[in-house]
Amino acid sequence: MTANPPPATENDQADFGPPVLRFAPSPNGELHLGHALSALTGYDIARRLGGRFLVRIEDIDLGRCRPEYIDGIFRDLEWLGVAWDGPVWRQSERFGAYEAAARKLAAAGLLYPCFASRSEIQLAAHPGALDPDGAALYSGLHRHLSPAEIARRTAAGDAHAMRLHMEAALRNVADAPLTYVALDATLKPTRKIADPSRWGDAVLQRKDVPTSYHLAVVVDDAAQGITHVVRGLDLLAATDLHALLQALLGLPTPIYHHHRLITDTAGRKLAKSLGDTSLAQLRDGGLQPDRLRQLIGLTPDR
Ligand code: GLU
Repeated sequence: MTANPPPATENDQADFGPPVLRFAPSPNGELHLGHALSALTGYDIARRLGGRFLVRIEDIDLGRCRPEYIDGIFRDLEWLGVAWDGPVWRQSERFGAYEAAARKLAAAGLLYPCFASRSEIQLAAHPGALDPDGAALYSGLHRHLSPAEIARRTAAGDAHAMRLHMEAALRNVADAPLTYVALDATLKPTRKIADPSRWGDAVLQRKDVPTSYHLAVVVDDAAQGITHVVRGLDLLAATDLHALLQALLGLPTPIYHHHRLITDTAGRKLAKSLGDTSLAQLRDGGLQPDRLRQLIGLTPDR
């Protein structure tokens, strides 16, 4: 792996058609200040670039997502002054597209079933080895199950996830090192090296639904022609895995901008002074959207 990626050039920005950005919340709770920062940052950049702005509901977690949270998202966005173009996609309606992408990876021999439970995975993990989400790094427990064992467990009705064979996947990528273009806070592009290996054999299809966040987000960003992904620094490491999936699936890699998080001391103070409340509660309490922008460090809407 080379230490310095090639610099980003003007062409990195010109490779795409008209800009398309998106806000992609998961409706498993009310939106908070961090969501407001994400939605407004993306929306402001879309307007600055003269691009389109989409909203996508990431509701693959059928057990945790609620329709009332989706209604709340629309109300919050309207209040924030965020307008979106075109229809809102819901990931729960797109499982077929994720299955097709998974079939493509499986046909290349890059997926394998894993029947292990969370506690089995934890027990087998090397102590202290964590993935970027802080979960026990998968040790490869079911990477080499025999076809007979897979057939036996499947026939017995054991649920399985599908995992990416990371080592094989990295061998399949022609352009090493994998890189992507990121915009810094001033929107200056730099080329970054992606290191997906730190995710290990990531789950691409969960036991309960035929996708995972990583697969769905990559498939949909491509299907919606997203040119610029704006999201929080909490998803910085995920971008490494996304760049790999894009390369494996033959999808374009968008430009990424990872915005600061409202979790530093100032952020915690802010959340505390505002009562650690949802956007809906702040709105009901009489806060004005321009004041909210100011509080989270954004310029007023003009
Ligand atoms: N659905 C994710 C979340 O609410 C965001 C996904 C993304 O922007 O890539 O955290």
